[in-house]
Amino acid sequence: MISIIIILLILSNHFFLYSQDLNFYWPVNTHHFVISSTFGESRFDHFHSGIDISGGGNPIFPIQSSKILYLEFEGMHTQRFISGTGNQIWLEHEKGYWSGYYHLEKVFPPDRGIYYHLKESFALTGNTGRSFGPHLHFFILSDYGKKIINPLLILPLLEKDTTPPEIEFIAFLVPEKETIKIHRFVSEKKQEIRLTQKRDIYLKVYDMPDHRNLKRIPYKIEWIFKNQKETKKNFIVFDYIENHYGTLLLNGKYKFNEIYYLDLIKLGSFEYVNGENIITVIAYDFNQNKAQKTFTLNIKKEY
Ligand SMILES: [Zn+2]
Repeated sequence: MISIIIILLILSNHFFLYSQDLNFYWPVNTHHFVISSTFGESRFDHFHSGIDISGGGNPIFPIQSSKILYLEFEGMHTQRFISGTGNQIWLEHEKGYWSGYYHLEKVFPPDRGIYYHLKESFALTGNTGRSFGPHLHFFILSDYGKKIINPLLILPLLEKDTTPPEIEFIAFLVPEKETIKIHRFVSEKKQEIRLTQKRDIYLKVYDMPDHRNLKRIPYKIEWIFKNQKETKKNFIVFDYIENHYGTLLLNGKYKFNEIYYLDLIKLGSFEYVNGENIITVIAYDFNQNKAQKTFTLNIKKEY
């Protein structure tokens, strides 16, 4: 009987799958978890700089054997708990990597002082702080806290996802009185457009995992603009966010509003010509699922 229990325990550790170089592991049981928000998503005025894993009351493990760097939980404060992060723990790993865990329900003290073993659960996922439903907000920092990196870049790829991203529409934004009107173009058919000035093109795109109605940001988005005058290519990828004198920059370069308007991706403005202007968008998720859509804009320039 004991040997059966031991075998079961060993099997249950199979979710700690190995990631080649850095040897990091998922902080939750990978048989069950769903990534409800991906890294770099728009939170309307800032980047979502971690990933969310849905569910409450699930044991959380360190992504590597680690030392406690920082922790804060409700009982520590004499006043009402106000932090948006809720109960939180930050851990320190090898080579300048740190990880952080928010909205925890319960925090368990480590068996060995300030060190957690890889297989030692340190908390349960919860709904503390500014959280709308039980989930784990989880992030990885590199360079001793300088960069927040996309965890999917260094964790083993475990989520099974065969659904390609969805390219919903492109749009021009036109200020009207107090508001901004979003002029959407959904179809791949030719669309007639009057432009009174050079305007940026925006894109609505999302990535849905299999069998879940979740709208996450894809990992990579490419676009090609083409007319008789020019061909322009560009792309955006969500790799890391760097704190640059208090401003968070995607990949060390882009401020939030250089990438997003609300949850629309800013593709930028182009040298439009009268007649056909073609824009092709290609979106990829982390499982190499790919979507592509071409929009033909028949523009009449009035500027
Ligand atoms: Zn989050």
